[in-house]
Amino acid sequence: MKAVKLLSVAGAYWRGDEHRPMLQRIYGVAFPTQEQLDEYLNYLEEAKRRDHRVLLKDMDLGSFHEELGPGLMVWHPRGACIRNEIENFWRNEHLKNGYDLVYSPHVGKSTLWETSGHLSFYRENMFPSMDVPLDNDQTQEYFVKPMNCPFHILIYKNKTRSYRNLPMRMAELGTVYRFERSGVLHGLLRVRGFTQDDAHIFCREDQMEEELERTLKFCLQMLHNFGFTEYHVYISTRPEGKCVGEESRWNAAQTALEKIVAKLGLKYDIDKGGGAFYGPKIDIKIKDMLHREWQCSTIQFDFNLPERFNMTYVGEDGQEHVPYMIHRALLGAIERFFAVYLENCGGNFPLWLAPEQVRIVPIKDAHLDYAKEVLAALQERGLRATVDETHRPMGAKVRQGKMDKVPYTLVLGDKEANEKTVSVRTRSGNQANALPLETLINSLCKERDTHAPSGEWDKTE
Ligand SMILES: [Zn+2]
Repeated sequence: MKAVKLLSVAGAYWRGDEHRPMLQRIYGVAFPTQEQLDEYLNYLEEAKRRDHRVLLKDMDLGSFHEELGPGLMVWHPRGACIRNEIENFWRNEHLKNGYDLVYSPHVGKSTLWETSGHLSFYRENMFPSMDVPLDNDQTQEYFVKPMNCPFHILIYKNKTRSYRNLPMRMAELGTVYRFERSGVLHGLLRVRGFTQDDAHIFCREDQMEEELERTLKFCLQMLHNFGFTEYHVYISTRPEGKCVGEESRWNAAQTALEKIVAKLGLKYDIDKGGGAFYGPKIDIKIKDMLHREWQCSTIQFDFNLPERFNMTYVGEDGQEHVPYMIHRALLGAIERFFAVYLENCGGNFPLWLAPEQVRIVPIKDAHLDYAKEVLAALQERGLRATVDETHRPMGAKVRQGKMDKVPYTLVLGDKEANEKTVSVRTRSGNQANALPLETLINSLCKERDTHAPSGEWDKTE
């Protein structure tokens, strides 16, 4: 142990017994070289600086409350603005990729959850039930949904489906509630109420490979759009012991999964026997800029629910067949993905997501009229901007814009007001002077509309 650093101290009772004397516990780390130690300490510093719980508070994005209950967050206007952009983008991409958008309620009768099997294998993860009065003085037990699948199945079953109707792809930003133990709750990464970017695909066996390929490509494209370009793919196969579904279906699904992952040239590991009892799956872990891995995307076969709900379609042969069912979430849950994304960008959101995209700084009160004119021009093109009307020196206002992580700050003085131009400072310290207002606005709109991940305006344009 060549390089040692003591990190912190904490009190601890002798043998964990509060009636015994208090001891001091000293925490430290050691590495073979000073260089490795420094690297680790930098990493700790950076992780602390990017902790999403700190950023949520500092950037006024959302909050947790004792009187609301653990694991439930309220989204403040700035956080909601970012979330809304993510969700709009998500919906548009799904429409482009051949999905139908659906909605489903937050509660359902206990009988639904009996049919789905959730009450027998998932009940400890569900919120306790509520008894809803019926007309005949009796009550009906309802549960808040822990998953969206049964609702999408009801949509499928609402009509007789033929082989020509398949594949069906139903997508929903479905908010679910799960009763996580309070000890495992952690900011937005582990919560009790969250919104899955959920979808279910129902298809025939001969469509399975193509559907998997589409789904996986769509998934990677989605992650790519948010700047995540390093992935680790895990395929989990049939576990030992009791499973549902015919073995031939398991084999067909597993073969298809491996084939598609290999076809797309992805590195993958096989978790042999690591699948759920109802089907094999692919999990994708993304790497953030601190090289931490986060599990977000899942593509999961299900041989259980189609049988339990007696789902069928009429084949070309006129006979009834059971469709293949695939659950998939690309971002995982909006809340968790938001936390991962927030830590990855450190709060420096790209332009399209930044709640405040432009800060306008008039140098003196005399420039306020022009500042309002610029504000109106930006708002006209859908850009989110504010005017800093405080009586502080220009330098202080510009610094404030940077501290608030606003991508662009516009400084307006006599010259700018007379020439109808702007002087631009970017969050990262770049600067451009005497830019025609219209040129700037066009450039910002382009950056926003292409969802450019950098968040920094390219001066060479
Ligand atoms: Zn599902």
